[in-house]
Amino acid sequence: MVTRRKALTIGAAGVGGAVLAASGAAVVANRDKPEPPAPPTVNPQGRLLWRNWSGIQSAYPAERLAPKEEGELAAGLKAAPAPIRAVGAGHSFTALAATNGTLVSLDAMAGVIGWDGDVATVRAGTRLGALGPALAEKGRAMANLPDINKQSLAGAISTGTHGTGKTLPAIHANLAGLTLITADGRTVECDADHRPDLFSAAKVSLGALGIITQARLITSPNRRLRRRVWIEPFEEAVAKAEERWAEHRNFEFYAIPFTGLAANITHDETDDPPEAAPPSQDDAFLEALKMLRNTFGWSNGLRKGAAGMLLGGTKPETAVDEGWKLLSTERPVRFNEMEYHLPPETQLAALKEVVAVIEKERSDVFFPIEVRRIAGDDAWLSPFQGGPRGSVAVHAWYKDDYAFFFELIEPIFQRHGGRPHWGKLHSLRGQRLAALYPNWKDFLEVRRELDPQGRMLSPYLKGLFELD
Ligand SMILES: Cc1cc2nc3c(=O)[nH]c(=O)nc-3n(C[C@H](O)[C@H](O)[C@H](O)COP(=O)(O)OP(=O)(O)OC[C@H]3O[C@@H](n4cnc5c(N)ncnc54)[C@H](O)[C@@H]3O)c2cc1C
Repeated sequence: MVTRRKALTIGAAGVGGAVLAASGAAVVANRDKPEPPAPPTVNPQGRLLWRNWSGIQSAYPAERLAPKEEGELAAGLKAAPAPIRAVGAGHSFTALAATNGTLVSLDAMAGVIGWDGDVATVRAGTRLGALGPALAEKGRAMANLPDINKQSLAGAISTGTHGTGKTLPAIHANLAGLTLITADGRTVECDADHRPDLFSAAKVSLGALGIITQARLITSPNRRLRRRVWIEPFEEAVAKAEERWAEHRNFEFYAIPFTGLAANITHDETDDPPEAAPPSQDDAFLEALKMLRNTFGWSNGLRKGAAGMLLGGTKPETAVDEGWKLLSTERPVRFNEMEYHLPPETQLAALKEVVAVIEKERSDVFFPIEVRRIAGDDAWLSPFQGGPRGSVAVHAWYKDDYAFFFELIEPIFQRHGGRPHWGKLHSLRGQRLAALYPNWKDFLEVRRELDPQGRMLSPYLKGLFELD
């Protein structure tokens, strides 16, 4: 038995050669592509480029606001050229934050500024990675975290960002109240007692109602967690998934296409002393899967055989630490992504169809498919509104084509009753979204009330809401 990192870094080159030699194949198809073309850093009007994390969304804002406090923000908004869009860390794959009008960053409005019992008042520009240590100082933590912690708190709640765990809802479900500043400079407060309609709308509001400046966040005890990572046959992971969601605080798995394997990850509370995590192996893992794709993309059988040699004998890994240090990891390899949230009853059937269609039609795909479970909540535009959902997420390396998300994968998700992640790629607009969200019209009414002139509506948002 060897560790996964050793197997991947030492084994990747060797397995490729050994299996190729055994198969007698002579040609290695190198499918690596050049960097996608980047838009100019400055446009002809002298405006600076804004780009999202994956690089597929870009804009040249006429004005940028980076206020340090609420009064400065309110004054800036009144005179700001539309469309006004807030940006956090720019980690959404959709064009939610893109604008050629005014781009508002709350990077200078960050930090925990007060406590009321276990509820922390957090400035909305705070990055999740900075929130961890700030809450830990008080022995508290966020109830759950997404895969990475680079997002701003406002950006994360505005798109329904989530982690995994059958009893754990998305981040916005742990809010006790919000403060927004509208496009015309008004300050609006809301919580479950005061303007509950606005609160239900604002928790997941795509930056369409106003700029969120503060969030009152319900925190949890800062517990140590034990992480366990192991690889097993895909069919076994699927068969045991429901029982693992029931059994573990956090459980997710990654279906690894063309390998017949899956990687499982659990996190459970423990009083055991800390155990150092092995160095992150996401990059080595993906590099090895890319090598398998490049070398054996022409033969599913050889690709699966080589993957078995590479990954089959790796031993489980464990680590123990405080949850905020373990739950999010680095994602050094850039990608594009589509994620849908499905009724739990259809999640695994949809997953199997997704894996099958990729293995039949798209030998260029090498990223694992992520499978999570999220508890329900009541925010009007939350994909988890009305009950728990099971998410399935498909990724494509940033240099690779992702049109197949729309052509092959999205129809499967839609057939199985899925709702798209707001920050990840999808093609739904207007009536099709309205049909998925019982409070869609109520949300649009609150939007009209808060921003009657539509100054926060970019062409992308107008398209989503089907407004002119
Ligand atoms: C590598 C990677 C890993 C990811 N992992 C996960 C995951 O595990 N789970 C998950 O659910 N998602 C995940 N995502 C998606 C990501 O969490 C969301 O897209 C999130 O919205 C990004 O936060 P951000 O701060 O970058 O916001 P941005 O993308 O900058 O903005 C998102 C939205 O929030 C609005 N907004 C930002 N700030 C404010 C504000 N102050 N007031 C009002 N509106 C505001 C914007 O206008 C926009 O509509 C991942 C994305 C990447 C790139």
